[in-house]
Amino acid sequence: MISIEHVSKWYGTFQVLSDCTTQVAKGEVVVVCGPSGSGKSTLIKTVNGLESFQEGEIVVDGQSLRDARTNLSKLRSKVGMVFQHFELFPHLSIMENLTLAQLKVLGRSKDEAFDKGLALLDRVGLKAQADKFPAQLSGGQQQRVAIARALSMDPVAMLFDEPTSALDPEMINEVLDVMVELAQEGMTMMCVTHEMGFAKKVAHRVIFMDRGAIVEDDRKEAFFENPKSDRAKEFLAKIL
Ligand code: ATP
Ligand code: MG
Repeated sequence: MISIEHVSKWYGTFQVLSDCTTQVAKGEVVVVCGPSGSGKSTLIKTVNGLESFQEGEIVVDGQSLRDARTNLSKLRSKVGMVFQHFELFPHLSIMENLTLAQLKVLGRSKDEAFDKGLALLDRVGLKAQADKFPAQLSGGQQQRVAIARALSMDPVAMLFDEPTSALDPEMINEVLDVMVELAQEGMTMMCVTHEMGFAKKVAHRVIFMDRGAIVEDDRKEAFFENPKSDRAKEFLAKIL
């Protein structure tokens, strides 16, 4: 589903991604972790074309990101992305947030988009909030809307970049629960997160990054029970 081959990226002379290679199969859940500044966000953003890269190749659902014929906005609509800060449109209602891209990008009818939006809101437990505005919702609720909005495009994969790290502790679980459900339903997911409980519960693999490189890429059991590098051991000792 997602293939990342020898990807390197520089900002000027600073190498932010260093020969990164990994694959995410259909239905696979991969957690990406590592110290601050190790390139996790950059890597995940290259996957849906939000960041360019100078070397290597990324193929998503059969489409190469280096191929000039690849329609980036179309590709982005197929790969849902949820960030740390819930980027809902503040001036639009929750339902309008959920239907806008369905109408404009997918060309769905109003009824179809509304029905889809309502079903997704129900799924994330927010059906009653359809007519509210983002500012009237808690951070956890807004993040669940952001997930629902990404799902409204029927994505082939979902990317998450620390979706719970800006939330108050009591709201983290309500967002993780939605992510766990998605994972269990077989969604292909790449999640940057330090929520190791989530990783232990649903990840198939864990990628550990350090200074722009993928230092470990292993089955979750192997990563947690027997991390190979000292950096990963140190990292796990700090956060577990
Ligand atoms: P965090 O855990 O803090 O979110 P991260 O692993 O997601 O970190 P990135 O945001 O991918 O790390 O950043 C990797 C490195 O690239 C950092 O050293 C960062 O300062 C640098 N960087 C990111 N964006 C730019 C940019 N636009 N120009 C120059 N350097 C950048
Ligand atoms: Mg980051």
